[in-house]
Amino acid sequence: MKSLTLNEPIKINGIGLHTGVKTTVTLNPAPLKSGIFFNRTDKSTIIPARWNKVISTKFSTNIASNGVEVKTVEHLLSALAGLHINNCEILIDNIEVPILDGSSNVFVKSILKKGIKEQDSEQKILEIIKPVKFSCNYGYAELTPNLQKEEGLNINLESSFEGKYKDQDIKITNLNGNYVETISKARTFGFFQEIEYLKSQNLIKGGSLDNAIVIKDKKPLNKEGLRYDDELMRHKVLDVVGDLYLSGYPIIGTYKGFKTGHFITNNLLKELFKSRDNYKIHKIN
Ligand SMILES: [Zn+2]
Repeated sequence: MKSLTLNEPIKINGIGLHTGVKTTVTLNPAPLKSGIFFNRTDKSTIIPARWNKVISTKFSTNIASNGVEVKTVEHLLSALAGLHINNCEILIDNIEVPILDGSSNVFVKSILKKGIKEQDSEQKILEIIKPVKFSCNYGYAELTPNLQKEEGLNINLESSFEGKYKDQDIKITNLNGNYVETISKARTFGFFQEIEYLKSQNLIKGGSLDNAIVIKDKKPLNKEGLRYDDELMRHKVLDVVGDLYLSGYPIIGTYKGFKTGHFITNNLLKELFKSRDNYKIHKIN
């Protein structure tokens, strides 16, 4: 596949889920080999969207360079990954990427409306060669080579919502091509009984039923209901896609996990990059 960037700049405004601050992001076309990077224009600092720039993963993925941070990068990165855009400058004039409707669909639609531009070189992809795994006391994730030699990413997730919601599994085979319809509309979610705790941690200052599903007594409080029966699990896939894009490459492999989240996926990438034997970076036509 060719390298891809944007046809023209795209400006999007909104508030941050955790900080509540108003922010404008401008997605700019970028030349070959730029990769995906943030440019905090109010601090004149470039922050590459890479796994080794992650500074915290508590309820969102936050990256920083030289002490300058961008919070909640995962949904925007998920949109770029889902559309296979590999060169993009993201101008941002404050600390947090806007949450918008809680999914990545506003980013996806805005990008598709203005158009995607092919560049004059093939994209590099990262193929998983050896299984890698990260486990912690409540869950795990692993990346393994694709058994069927599919040229894309498979994602199999199991979850346990511990009685707060019905447990679900999700199996996405070859995400490529299915992202816009099956994943990008799935919104962030939270559980009613955890809201007070999150507020006490100085989080979700911008949260509302306009940008998150809130589950109480196993049902959404949102009037409009759910966009998919398994919207929570699809949002988990959306987060995995965004967090994995911090590898810097589209991944060919299978991600399998139980109770995964930003912490587990970021640590899985740290495991992956411990040895060059775990993966191969190459171009596919
Ligand atoms: Zn999310």
